[in-house]
This record gives sequence, C-alpha cells and structure tokens, in this order.
Amino acid sequence: MEEAELDRLRSEIREVSMEILSLLKRRQELAAKIGEVKNRLGLEIHQPEVEGELRTFLVKQGKLMGLNPRLVNGLATLLFKDSTSIQQKKHSTITHMDILRRGLELERAGFQVHHLEVGEPDLGAPAEVREAVSSAVRQGLARYGDSRGLPQLRKKIAEQLEAKFKTRLGPENILVVPGGRFAVYLALKTLVEPGDEVILVDPSWPMYRQCVDFVGGRAVGVKTSLEKGWRPDTTSLENAISPATKAIILNYPNNPTGKSLEKRDFEEIVEIAESKGLTIISDEVYYDYSFGAQSSILDGYDVKYVVVQSFSKSFGMTGYRIGYLVAGRETVDKMASLISLMITCVPEFIQYGALKALELEEVPKKYSEIMRSRMEVAVRELSRLPVDFYRPDGGMYVFPKLNSGGHDMVRLALELLESKGVAIAPGSIFGGYDSFFRISLGASEKSIERGITLLGEFLREKGLA
Ligand code: PMP
Repeated sequence: MEEAELDRLRSEIREVSMEILSLLKRRQELAAKIGEVKNRLGLEIHQPEVEGELRTFLVKQGKLMGLNPRLVNGLATLLFKDSTSIQQKKHSTITHMDILRRGLELERAGFQVHHLEVGEPDLGAPAEVREAVSSAVRQGLARYGDSRGLPQLRKKIAEQLEAKFKTRLGPENILVVPGGRFAVYLALKTLVEPGDEVILVDPSWPMYRQCVDFVGGRAVGVKTSLEKGWRPDTTSLENAISPATKAIILNYPNNPTGKSLEKRDFEEIVEIAESKGLTIISDEVYYDYSFGAQSSILDGYDVKYVVVQSFSKSFGMTGYRIGYLVAGRETVDKMASLISLMITCVPEFIQYGALKALELEEVPKKYSEIMRSRMEVAVRELSRLPVDFYRPDGGMYVFPKLNSGGHDMVRLALELLESKGVAIAPGSIFGGYDSFFRISLGASEKSIERGITLLGEFLREKGLA
C-alpha cells in the first residue's frame, strides 16, 4: 500500500519537474525576444531596476505561499543569470586565448613578438629573495607547515601594514596564500553561496566574473566610462545592489584602466557597503604601483572587508605564487580551513623568500618608478595615435579606445599580431568594452615604444588612422 503511494507521489514529482522545465523553456524564449527588443532600442542588457522590482515581487509572493525567501532569492538569481547569458551579444568566435596561443606559436617559429598583452612584470624577483629561497631549500625548510603561513611572516606582514595604515591588525588577520588569484577565489568561495550576487565595477579583471560564476554566484557589473574618467557612479552602484548581494569587488589602481579612486568616492562606496551589510573585497595588488595618492580599505574604515595582496607585482615574484589576505579573524579562519583542505600550506621555502622581500622596502618603490617611466613612454606614443585614453594614476596598464568604433577588436588584435608581431588584450574580455584594448607595461620601454609604433603603422594600413 505504502509503496504504491510512494510510486504515485514520485511520478507526480516527475510531472511537476517536467512542468518546471517547460516553463523554463518558455521563459528562455521570452528572454530572447526581450533581448532583441532591447537591442533594437539600444538598451543595456542588465537593468537593475527592472530586475529588482521582479525580485521583490517574487520574494513577496513566495512568502505568501510559504516559501523560504532565501530559496526564492537564489532561484531568482539563477533565472536572471540565465536571461542575461541568453541576451548577451555573441561576440567574435575568436577569443583572447587565441591571441595568446598564436603569439606563442609565432615566437616558437622564430618571429619576434612584442608582448603588450600579459599582466606580468618582466622585473623578476630581487637577488636577495632568490638567495633566501635557495638557502631555505638547502636547509631543508620544506616540510608541511601551518596552513595560515609561517608565524614570523604573518607577524611581519601585520606589523608593516599597521605601520602603514590605520586599521589595527595582528597575525590572526593575515593568511598567506599561493598568489592573488587564489586569494580572490578563497574570498569568493568563503563569502558567496550559490544564488548570491557580487558587484563588480567594469571594466574589470576577467578572473572576478569567471570566479564568481565558478562558485555559483552571479556577477553584476556596474559600468564606468572613459568619458567620466572611469569614476564609478555611486547611484548606479546602489541600484545594482539586491537582497542577494553579498560583496563588492574593488580593484584600485585598476586593471585595466589604471584608475585610482578619489578618496571621497572610496568613502562613499564603503558607506554604501557598510549600510547594506556587504563585504568589500579590495584587490590591492597594484597598491605599490601608485603614482599618486591611493586609498586602501585598511585606512581604518568600519566595514567588513577582505584585502587581496600579492608579491607578484610589488616584488616581481610572479612565478613564486605567493600573496596574502587580510580580513577579520572569523573570515581568516574560514579561508584558512580551505587552504588546509586543498594545499596544506604555501611551500615553506617560498615563504622565506617573501619574508626576505619584506625587508627590501626600496624594491616596490624602484619597480613602481620603472612602471611610471614605462607609462610615460606608452602615453607619449599613444598620443600620436587615433585613440583616447585615461592617463593612469597607477597600476601597469593603459586602456585606450579606438576612435573609429564599430570594429571587431578581437579580430583586429589577431591581425595586428599576425602582421606586426604585436600582442594586445582586446577590451571585450574586461566586461564588454569592445572598442578598447589594453596595453601592459610588463614589457621593456623599448618593446612598448616599438609595439605602439607598429600598432600605429597597422592602423594606418587599415585606414583607421
Ligand atoms: N588581481 C589583479 C587585478 C591582477 O591583475 C592580478 C594578476 N594579473 C592578480 C590579482 C593576481 O596576481 P597573482 O596571482 O600573480 O598574485
């Protein structure tokens, strides 16, 4: 008897699930039609007000039906994410990965390639760091260690940050991690549950969007523009926040624009985050490459925060894979358990290299000066081309816009690579900035100068200059 009842209920569940699928299909068809209309009207795909109104309606109706608001919120996020991906314009079939791959192929075939696409400084780690790592290896300092990092390294990081900023910190606020990229993953994995949303300020480093997606969340981009000096509009930012929002990612000096936030903008964003109970994930890996004043979330703000830091840029230690996170004790504890689960700890001898690096305070200053000088070269050369750009306040990139718009930048970038041996990163990968491209200052002044000159030749040959 009971078994027959179970069978009947299961078959009903099957039918209801099928109905949900049919409704999902209908919803996707509607989303596609809405996308076409938006396209004809020249409207943005993501319209936070419309979405916000629908979300509030759904949560309210769900409550009346006795459904858990968290579940309804999560479901709404999934549906919105699906609609956005349906409505997004399909870009070129070529991607920036093709550009990278082709660049390497050309090099292997013996052609010279000017690498203005990769975000890796060519400066290398200081000799003292290399020696410290070798010596640690020779001494056998290569055992399983504390998943939070060497106590003396965390202590030193906390002391240096305390001396530099207003926030009171101890070793319990520091977590040593294998690079800034992994730091972003740990922060998102810890803060974001499936269905949650994370605000990004676009253009943004592509990893943020990919990683939010990877942990099951939804990235909501707030656009900024070259015309407004890449300043985030705080009203748009506030409008983009929904009940599902958990965090805002800030990255200043910015990759790809080179923008630093003015203090009052920084403060306003922090206030918004604080009032809505959101965490700010502040990626400050380019902090040492600031050419002027630079705000940090460690300047004593009263907000939940996670700082992402790395030895890759400040000390040229890209291949060492080491960085650190700064956060409240509880968040550090959660992130430390993930490190322990996945990798046990960052290799001990690499941490000795980082400890040595922290003694070399002149190195970040020297590297920053090199970037500044390269930036001046790039700015001088780019000024001769038919492009507009923001003069960077810091970081290691310039993000110019081709004046004659409407081109497939990915295709142009590939043609540029094939015909002139110059690799650039197309703007589409930073959140849909199709007329833009990013020039990295990771290469030598000579290579930057030559690369931009060749780019000018290419544009003239194409009739774009
Ligand atoms: N954040 C930003 C904005 C970056 O551009 C990069 C490197 N491209 C990183 C973090 C991570 O660098 P790493 O993993 O080498 O520390």
